[in-house]
Amino acid sequence: MTASARAACVIGWPIEHSRSPLIHNYWLKHYGIPGEYRREAVPPSQFRAFVQSLAARGYVGANVTVPHKEAALAWSRPDDRARAVGAANTLWLDGVLRSTNTDVEGFLDNLDAGAPDWDRNLGKAVVLGAGGAAGAVIYALLERGIERIVVANRTQRRADAMRERFGERVHAVRWDERDTVLDDAALLVNATTLGMEGQPNLGIDVGRLPSHAVVADLVYVPLVTPLIRAAQGRALRSADGLGMLMHQAVRGFTLWFGKKPAVTAELRALLEADLSPSAGHEAGIT
Ligand code: NAP
Repeated sequence: MTASARAACVIGWPIEHSRSPLIHNYWLKHYGIPGEYRREAVPPSQFRAFVQSLAARGYVGANVTVPHKEAALAWSRPDDRARAVGAANTLWLDGVLRSTNTDVEGFLDNLDAGAPDWDRNLGKAVVLGAGGAAGAVIYALLERGIERIVVANRTQRRADAMRERFGERVHAVRWDERDTVLDDAALLVNATTLGMEGQPNLGIDVGRLPSHAVVADLVYVPLVTPLIRAAQGRALRSADGLGMLMHQAVRGFTLWFGKKPAVTAELRALLEADLSPSAGHEAGIT
């Protein structure tokens, strides 16, 4: 690297299957920016020391993925968004180590791009899951002014915790009630790991959704999940996990390398080729 080149990385444990290097190195090359984006395999016991020595390691910032998103919040100065969600996925140095959660805007920007005006007169959204990603989705929906968000999760107390965290516009229902809340839902979001390659299917009756409903799946391995396929089968508008993955990467790149990158068909094609069964991939993480 030249003296002016900057470096960032994605920190996880394990980290081999992260697609973030593909995205950021594509943008670096595309915009002719001297820099590098690497993978860093860091076990939980070493995470704090690692992020506290980012600058000494030559990094201007980092993405953080499983299992470090809560720790990233604890060992940085989070913005309101990361604090509200309870997890951070993007770190940058600005005198101090700052953090945010770009899954929030990744989710919204992907829906805006794939299903324009999805939020016009949207009364009720149903979110399946109550993990870290579901928290970012719920925060994003509240930020957009969605009136009623129904959360169903296998472990009921985690769905209840979402209501406690985000307030009275969030309603928790039992996991086995998930089909019964779809009749008047204008948006259905899968924020569980179900439907991912190697995982059980989601088991949701998309046929119960109204014909104007939009379906979003955060899972992107396989590219076309059973949920997205079912939505397409009913001609419902949908937004897939790969789109969110690309959109959530924009802010980190902007912060580290000083250029707001575009999410393009060319970038998507690059990722699709990497994720295609013939590329011999394994289920990915950001
Ligand atoms: P997480 O915190 O581990 O949460 C996993 C969620 O899946 C929980 O709600 C969990 O329910 C549920 N789940 C797991 N196995 C289940 C089963 N057999 N039956 C019913 N529910 C089950 O994971 P996360 O970080 O929130 O990520 C969730 C998904 O979003 C993953 O597929 C991840 O790859 C994806 N994601 C995608 C993007 C993107 O940019 N596209 C970004 C972030 C995350 P319990 O609470 O009952 O365990």
